[in-house]
Amino acid sequence: MTERVLLTGGSGFFGRRIAEALRRHGYEVSTPGRPEFDLMDASLTRRTIDRLRPDAIVHSAAYYGGLGICMAEPAQIFQRNVIMGVNLLEAAARAGVGKVMAIGSACSYPGGVAGDMKEEDFWSGPLHPSVESYGFTKKVLEVGLRAYGRGFGMVGQMPVVTNLYGEYDVFGEYRSHVAAALIKKFADAVQSKADHVTCWGTGAPVREFIYSGDAAEAVARLLQSGYTEPLNVGTGIGTSIKELAELTARLTGFRGEIVWDTSKSDGVLRKVLDVSKMESVLGWKPPTSLEAGLKRTIRWYLENKAEADARP
Ligand code: GDP
Repeated sequence: MTERVLLTGGSGFFGRRIAEALRRHGYEVSTPGRPEFDLMDASLTRRTIDRLRPDAIVHSAAYYGGLGICMAEPAQIFQRNVIMGVNLLEAAARAGVGKVMAIGSACSYPGGVAGDMKEEDFWSGPLHPSVESYGFTKKVLEVGLRAYGRGFGMVGQMPVVTNLYGEYDVFGEYRSHVAAALIKKFADAVQSKADHVTCWGTGAPVREFIYSGDAAEAVARLLQSGYTEPLNVGTGIGTSIKELAELTARLTGFRGEIVWDTSKSDGVLRKVLDVSKMESVLGWKPPTSLEAGLKRTIRWYLENKAEADARP
């Protein structure tokens, strides 16, 4: 029998790729959105889940963005994500939903892990102050999944996803993550014939980037599996922000100067996941190289600039 999955955040940047991947794997997917399904409203959430009675829920909706919004709106990020998550878990458990997967984030790892972050490090120390609020809301969900598992027999899953990029991302300076931010900055500079582009921080921090379509495939594979511990989802490949800037400059055809604004935060110095468990549990590795994924994203941005620039 086809399993029915309710996906939250299904029209978002990552959610739409998750919907595609789940359908490709044979799931029947519903993506109710506001106003009929507003996760900030507990009784609406309850009514919609009671009505749809899905076999599983994938919770991808979140209020978040890059370092900029994480530092500017820690309280709103905390309040919205915790309330949405708690409303969802409570409604799912009361409706007898068998499985809930909450999309997790590498921001939940402690800020000071030496080397690549292994699943065992998840609870080993305090979060980096720049992303503590967002990162901790995902930890609240992880505890919630276990609590509702014990209390209601609900199966919980959490892919801990590294920095995402791809088509439909948010490109505006305030909310964007670095990959989309730099694509916009360099592509716009080429169009306006600007002689320099300013990036944040020193360029020294190291991040790991996974193409959104690949991360969505990992989500679908995890849902099919019976694996219930938090599972890293990434490429395991670290790239410095300086290297990312140079690669993005080359791929967009920008030939001017790259300037570093060191008054802006670097955030965590290194955030790269150990993905050995992912490779053995899912029997899979992300196929898209950073260069190939960036090329697709740049093309999408150039072809959809008006739509991308209009998104807040
Ligand atoms: P993080 O992984 O949670 O820190 O989120 P981001 O993707 O927003 O930032 C990653 C790194 O890129 C940080 O060291 C930023 O300082 C750096 N960075 C450089 N230029 C930019 C930019 O224009 N926007 C963003 N968001 N980050 C930038």
